[in-house]
Amino acid sequence: MIAVLKSGVTKEQRQGLIDWFKSQGLDVHISEGEMHTILGLVGDTTKVDEELIEALDIVESVKRISEPFKKANRKFNPKNKVIEITKDVKIGDGEFALIAGPCSVENEAQIIEVAKEVKKSGATLLRGGAFKPRTSPYDFQGMKAEGIELLLKAKEATGLPIVTEIMNEKHLPLFEEVDVIQVGARNMQNFELLKALGKTNKTILLKRGLANTLKELLMSAEYIMAGGNENVILCERGIRTFESYTRNTLDLSAVPMLRELTHLPIVVDPSHATGIARLVEPMALAAVAAGADGLMIEVHNDPPKALCDGAQSLTPAQFDEVAVKVRKIQEALK
Ligand code: PEP
Ligand code: MN
Repeated sequence: MIAVLKSGVTKEQRQGLIDWFKSQGLDVHISEGEMHTILGLVGDTTKVDEELIEALDIVESVKRISEPFKKANRKFNPKNKVIEITKDVKIGDGEFALIAGPCSVENEAQIIEVAKEVKKSGATLLRGGAFKPRTSPYDFQGMKAEGIELLLKAKEATGLPIVTEIMNEKHLPLFEEVDVIQVGARNMQNFELLKALGKTNKTILLKRGLANTLKELLMSAEYIMAGGNENVILCERGIRTFESYTRNTLDLSAVPMLRELTHLPIVVDPSHATGIARLVEPMALAAVAAGADGLMIEVHNDPPKALCDGAQSLTPAQFDEVAVKVRKIQEALK
């Protein structure tokens, strides 16, 4: 349920109403707009008397929210969310994040070289997997803690904030200096992990599960937000369909659909969505045209030798071309 307050309501009047809602066992989410403040009520609102609240002289209107996600709902937060990852790197509401880097951190020279290259091309964040969720237990599982150390070295060398995936909440102490923690597709519904991330103040990049609906993605974001952490970025990375020429099927309509449903920033990952390097550019450009707030693209200094996802990885030179075209699309959309 949301209660829209009249303009000119004093802080004391507003606080009085919030205290009253809280005394009814409800959590109150406050969204301040230019004209109006919206109070979003989370919890069991079935006993709240809508007419009584609407009759209060500080309340303009009351509406029940039918969707099961509340804090992630645009009705609670009409303004697009802007997440400040660092002083200079933001995402959301026109602030675009270009995230690039290898699937996995492989060694110091590799990650530093790729970091320098993608930075030159305009990337704003460096990605790299240290803990890798692999289909086969016999495949390279990532450099783990050492991989995070190397990402931090690459951050030091380039100034790029880093994005890396967490697979287990027990590893959280290793992520202390990580700027954005990724939840991979396979963990989108690992609710214990989501709850643990909800108690941190880290920005979370939440990837859509291989076979999950947008509502389920938003409910997973809600798990993180319910814990108090509202810095969530959603990532469309393709879903599994009957199509087999591509690794997954990029659901590009997720971008405008999510835009309507939520105020959270939306990123598209064309690398995992297609699995094929030559399809990354057209899908990246289409994602920008569809209104994505960012892209996450796999870039490797020597794709044929990559320990993971070489077939979908761009060379730094190919990434540079994509970045130039992305800027052209952004210009055209202005
Ligand atoms: C990744 O980003 O390297 C990754 C494993 O992605 P996903 O979880 O989308 O498969
Ligand atoms: Mn990958």
